[in-house]
Amino acid sequence: MSKPVVAIVGRPNVGKSTLFNVLAGETISIVKDTPGVTRDRIYADCTWLNMNFTLIDTGGIEPDTSDVILSQMREQAEIAIATADVIVFIVDVRQGLVDADTKVADMLRKSRKPVVLAVNKVDSYEKFGNDVYEFYNLGIGDPVPVSAASRLGIGDLLDEVVKYFDCAKLEEEEDERPRIAVVGKPNVGKSSIINKLLGENRVIVSDIAGTTRDAVDTEIIHDGTPYVFIDTAGLRRKSKIHEELERYSIIRTVTAVERADIVVVVIDAKEGVTEQDAKIAGIAHERGKGIIVAVNKWDAIEKNDKTIYEYTNKLKEILSFIPYAEYLFVSAATGQRLPKLFEVIDAVRQNQNLRVSTGVLNEIMAEAVAMQQPPSDKGKRLKIYYMTQVAVKPPTFVAFVNDKELMHFSYVRYLENQIRSAFGFRGTSLKFVIRERK
Ligand code: GDP
Ligand code: GDP
Repeated sequence: MSKPVVAIVGRPNVGKSTLFNVLAGETISIVKDTPGVTRDRIYADCTWLNMNFTLIDTGGIEPDTSDVILSQMREQAEIAIATADVIVFIVDVRQGLVDADTKVADMLRKSRKPVVLAVNKVDSYEKFGNDVYEFYNLGIGDPVPVSAASRLGIGDLLDEVVKYFDCAKLEEEEDERPRIAVVGKPNVGKSSIINKLLGENRVIVSDIAGTTRDAVDTEIIHDGTPYVFIDTAGLRRKSKIHEELERYSIIRTVTAVERADIVVVVIDAKEGVTEQDAKIAGIAHERGKGIIVAVNKWDAIEKNDKTIYEYTNKLKEILSFIPYAEYLFVSAATGQRLPKLFEVIDAVRQNQNLRVSTGVLNEIMAEAVAMQQPPSDKGKRLKIYYMTQVAVKPPTFVAFVNDKELMHFSYVRYLENQIRSAFGFRGTSLKFVIRERK
């Protein structure tokens, strides 16, 4: 199930970061054990009324001259339109309505994306309440007065945002087709891979009315089965946004990954795996998606019969936080092994949806515990009463134990390895939830 994406757009100094921090605040998820993922607060996991969404802050570098501000804002708005389900457009009541606001509002209105207009810095409704009306002139609906700094009106704002979730969500849930995001650094060959797949298979570019975002998704039919490839915005159209802006590259990756079941992380064989590749893979891992690492440009490598083996080992060492990932060595130039991609996608999808019965699971666990004693602390030993699988995509297991504190991370790893050696689960992450039961 993909989480909705909410983007914040607005001029410099209107309070985007302040609002972002308030919304992300205490709910920001803690990422542990994923090397390469630095939490630089470009995006955050949020919850409101039991609804989860991903919040992105499109604001980056702060320009100083007004013409640069406008072009920067247009780029932000483009990113938001391309990637978000709902856009929060934020303006500043103290500065009043500014020309740049009007121009961006025009863009947002034309995109037909749901937009919630937040009028910030209304620290006192008595003092500033009347000034809010002016923003009706933007023509994007009712302004919601907020004060990010004093945390006023935040609930009302979120109510407006989540109202838009239902439709988008239902549409995607009814969709049975596998959704695949092809991600990676610039120039690794993402577009070349998609284009090659397009060339060799039947293609339908979907543009179902109302689903503005689906317009950039591409359906590829391979052997009679439809697959949806999620366009990382700007894949086909050359965007004005400079690729070197890491912030935008991360936003595009996160939002594409969020909507996907399976993520194909493309790596350039000539360059080998870099820190940025690890970061991108980390985003997919963190979100519990299926992962296929596609090493592209394999044609450009000098090789003998040991090269694939050696290369795989090197990759696995650097990407050791995703030991379950599938690896594929391909060439978009020659088409080598690209048809195999569909086979691997099918296999990973099956694994993501695999259910293990509680009986069999507990047999495996009993064996595992017999082979390696659970950890103990101050004379108290961990007892695992039983384990059961509660969800798929990713497969999620709940273990009931006597004392949560005793469940060491490395023991969870050990159990995971035992489960994997029994059932495989190649290509998908597994999630473990530890519950105490006295
Ligand atoms: P950004 O450039 O849009 O990300 O804006 P910031 O979040 O950095 O905020 C710009 C300035 O406005 C900072 O000095 C904030 O403290 C201030 N600010 C943000 N929200 C509010 C608010 O609700 N009321 C007041 N009075 N100031 C605010
Ligand atoms: P993207 O930025 O990740 O979408 O990368 P592109 O698809 O635009 O490819 C970047 C460059 O790598 C282009 O010059 C491609 O011709 C080249 N390229 C892509 N795939 C291959 C491949 O399989 N082999 C070789 N030798 N070059 C490739």
